[in-house]
Amino acid sequence: MSSPARPTHLPVRIGVLTSGGDAPGMNAAVRAVVRAGLRLGAQMFLIHEGYQGLVDGGDGITPADWDSVGSILHRGGTIIGTYRSKDFRTRPGQLKAATNLLRHGIDRLVVIGGDGSLTGANAFREAWPDLLAEVREAGEVDPELIDRHPDLIIAGLVGSIDNDLVGTDQTIGADSALHRIVDALDDISSTAASHQRSFVVEVMGRHCGYLALMSAIAGTCDFSLIPEQPPPDGWEERMCAELRRGRAAGRRESMVIVAEGATDRAGNPITAEYVKDQIAERLGEDTRVTILGHVQRGGSPSAYDRWMSTWLGYVAVKTVFEAAPGTPSVVIGNRGNTIIEIPLMEAVAATRQVPALIDQGDYDRAVELRGSSFAHMHRIFRAMSEPPRVRADADAKRIAIVHAGGLAPGMNTAAHAAVRLGIEEGFQMVGAVGGFPGLADGNVRPLDWGDVEGWAGLGGAELGTRRRVPEIEHLYAIGRVLENERIDGLLVIGGWNAYLAANLLWRERDRYPAFRIPMVCVPASIDNNLPGSELSIGSDTALNEISDALDRIKQSASASRRCFVVETMGRHCGYLTLMGGLAGGAERVYLHEDGVTLADLGRDVELLNHGFAHGRRLFLAIRNEEANPLYTTDFMARVFEEEGGDLFDVRQAILGHLQQGGNPSPSDRLLATQLVDFGIDTLKAQLEAGGDAACSVGTLAGQLVATPMERMFDDADTVFRRPRRQWWLELRAVLQAVAEEPR
Ligand code: ADP
Repeated sequence: MSSPARPTHLPVRIGVLTSGGDAPGMNAAVRAVVRAGLRLGAQMFLIHEGYQGLVDGGDGITPADWDSVGSILHRGGTIIGTYRSKDFRTRPGQLKAATNLLRHGIDRLVVIGGDGSLTGANAFREAWPDLLAEVREAGEVDPELIDRHPDLIIAGLVGSIDNDLVGTDQTIGADSALHRIVDALDDISSTAASHQRSFVVEVMGRHCGYLALMSAIAGTCDFSLIPEQPPPDGWEERMCAELRRGRAAGRRESMVIVAEGATDRAGNPITAEYVKDQIAERLGEDTRVTILGHVQRGGSPSAYDRWMSTWLGYVAVKTVFEAAPGTPSVVIGNRGNTIIEIPLMEAVAATRQVPALIDQGDYDRAVELRGSSFAHMHRIFRAMSEPPRVRADADAKRIAIVHAGGLAPGMNTAAHAAVRLGIEEGFQMVGAVGGFPGLADGNVRPLDWGDVEGWAGLGGAELGTRRRVPEIEHLYAIGRVLENERIDGLLVIGGWNAYLAANLLWRERDRYPAFRIPMVCVPASIDNNLPGSELSIGSDTALNEISDALDRIKQSASASRRCFVVETMGRHCGYLTLMGGLAGGAERVYLHEDGVTLADLGRDVELLNHGFAHGRRLFLAIRNEEANPLYTTDFMARVFEEEGGDLFDVRQAILGHLQQGGNPSPSDRLLATQLVDFGIDTLKAQLEAGGDAACSVGTLAGQLVATPMERMFDDADTVFRRPRRQWWLELRAVLQAVAEEPR
C-alpha cells in the first residue's frame, strides 16, 4: 500500500532501547544514539526496561535531551534498564507497543540486545502493517497519524558479553567481560602457582566458547572445554596427561577453563565440579573450582567497549535516520576496525544454526561459523598450551627475538607466544637481551618452553628493549653475532625504531651476508603509529590506562566547575588522544594531524564560557603531546584560565608513563599472539623455501596481512612517523557528534 510521505516539517522521531542480558558498553551506545540523533535534528526517545517500556507506554517512553545521557559512559549495565518482556512476545503486547509508538510519532528504533532481542525487533517490524490495521480498527489513534508511519525502521546493535552473533567480530560487552575474566585468571594463577595447585574456572557462554577460548589464550590456561568442540571420549585422560606434561615442562600451576555450556559428544554437560574431580582423582592434585558468574557481566566498560559502542551507536542512528521507507532491518557490527551492516535476519539465522550444528555433531562447521579467527585461535591455543612432544634437533633452524623501540605492554606476550609457537614448529628460539645493542654485544640467551612461563600477562619486557637504532658502525658486530649464534631468522618486535633497525639490516644485506635471513617485524607500540597494521600491540592497554585515568580525573572535578586539559602520549600520532577522548568522554581533542590555531583556541574559549554560563560543570579537553610545539598544554590551560574568569577553573594533567605501564589487556594479548603466530608461519615458509624475504605483519579490516620490507614505508609519513592514511581519523566526526551539543 503506498502511503503519504512524512510531512517535511515534522521531525524524525527515534527510540532507543536495551533488551535481554545487559552488557558493559550499552550505555556508551545509548549515549551515542541519543546525542548523534539530536545533532542530526531528530527527536530522541528513551524506551525503558526493554520492550516492556513499549508495551506499557507512559513513563516507559520518555523524550531524551543531551543531558539525559550525561555521565553514563563509564557505567556498567544499562541506565535505561533491560527486561525480558513476555508481553512483547504476544500479539496483544505488540499491539500495545505499536499504539504507544504511534502516539509518540516514533517509527524508527535502535535496539541494543542479543539475538533474542533482535529477533523480537524483526518480528515486530514484520507485523507492523497488520498491527497498524488493528490499531486503526480499534479507533484509539488518529488515522492521520497512522498514515504517517506506514513503516517501522530498525537497526540493531549486538549487546552480548558472549560475542555470539555470527557475522560481526565483536559484540558490545565481550571485551569488558574478557577483562574481568583475564584479571581473575591472573589473580588465580598467582595463588595457584604459589601452592602448585590446579584450578578449574567456569566462565559464561551457553552456546558460545568465545570467552572461554580467548581467556584461555590470554590467561595461558592449560586446557579448555567449549561448546563448539565437545571433546571425544577419553578426554579426561588426555586432559590429565597434558596437565602432567605441563608440570614436567615447568608450569607451577594448572588451569582448566570450562564454558558453562560445555558438553561431551553425547550432549551431557561437563561441569567444573566434574573436571575438578577428574583432576583430583587422576593426578592426586589439590584442585579448586572458581565459578566467575555475574562479575563477568558487571563493572565499568573497557576502553574498547566505550569507543567502539560509541561508533556503532553513531552509525546506527544515522542509518535509521537516513533509511528510505521499506528498508529491511539491519545489524550494525564490525569487521576489525571497519563498521559493517548486515541483514538482521541473516545474522540471527546463522547464529541460531550454531547450537543446531553442535547437536548434530557437525563441530567443524560450528567453529567455522564463528569466523576464521575463532577457528584459528582454537588451533593456536592447542599449539601454545601443549608442551612440545619432540625436542628440536641440533641442526634445527634458530630464530632470534629482538625488541626495539619504546616499551609496549604485550611485548612479553609476543615473546612468550614466539617461543612456544616457534618450538612447536621445530625451531630453536633465542632472545636478544637489551634490543639491538644487546644483540651487537652478543647478549643472546636460549629460550625454552618453560623459560617464558608467566610472561604472557606481564607488562614491561623481560628481554629488555632499547630505542636506539643501530648505526652503520654497529652492523659488523651484529652480523658477527648472528653468524656465531647461527641465527637463521629474526623476529623483531617493537615500534618505529624497530622497523627502522630491521630496514637498515635488510638494506645492508649485500654487504653483510649474515643479514640475508628472513626477518619479520611485529608492530608493538602504544602510539599505534606503525605502517602496515591498523593496530599495534600495546595501544589497547594504553587506552585502558587513559580511560581509567580520565574517569578519576572527572570524578575529582565533580564538586567544582572545572576544565581539565589532559595531555596524552603518541608523539605526532593522535590515536591515543582521539580514542582516549572517545573512551573518556572528552569534549574536545587536539591532534597534530589537525594542528591547533589561535582561532581554534578562541572558539574553544567561547564554547567553554557559553557552556559554564549555562550550567556545565566539567569540560574535558585532551591534547596530544605534539599537537603544536608552541601551544603547549600549559599555554592552553593558561589561556582558558584567563579567559574563563570566575566562571570555572582550569587544571592540567600530563598522563605520562602510566600509559606505557600496566599489564597487557586481553585484546593486546590476543593481538600479540595472532601476529606472532602469523610471523612465525611467515618465517617458516621462507626458511622452508630457502628464501630470505623480510616483511612486517599486521592486521587490516580484521585480516592478517604481510607487507614486504621494500614497501614497508611507502604509505608512511616518515617525518611525523605515522601512516599517511589513518583509519581512526574517521572517528573525529563521531567525537564531535557526541561531545558538542548543538546550539
Ligand atoms: P537476548 O536479546 O539477550 O538474546 P532474550 O532471548 O531473552 O535475550 O530476548 C530478550 C527479549 O526480546 C525477550 O524477553 C522478548 O521480550 C524479546 N523477544 C525475543 N524473541 C522474540 C520474538 N520472537 N518475538 C517477540 N519478542 C521477542
